[in-house]
Amino acid sequence: MTKPISENFDESHYKPEPPEQFFPAQHLKVYQTSPTEQLLICECQKCLAPLSIEVVFMTPQNSKPRPKGKTDSKPDNRAQCPNCGQVPIYLESCIVKSVNQLPTSPWQNSES
Ligand SMILES: [Zn+2]
Repeated sequence: MTKPISENFDESHYKPEPPEQFFPAQHLKVYQTSPTEQLLICECQKCLAPLSIEVVFMTPQNSKPRPKGKTDSKPDNRAQCPNCGQVPIYLESCIVKSVNQLPTSPWQNSES
């Protein structure tokens, strides 16, 4: 009639923290060039062309309402790869100022 005493303070079931999640296998370097602008060095996710993309993040300061009569037909917040014409990287809440293809990829010279 004795109940077994079960003490479940076993520390062996300690779970390690899950690893950080990154974007799937796309190289990306980010340089903050101004409080609202960043220079992204990345590889096109379609053709792996090395690209430098200037973006401006939309903030309450720079996202003023546009004057009426001048409406953009399409939002220019999409980058376009100059090499393959596809979207090289998906960006949110920012305006793409320019996309330039780099002569060499910073990730191709990975000699060790
Ligand atoms: Zn491309």
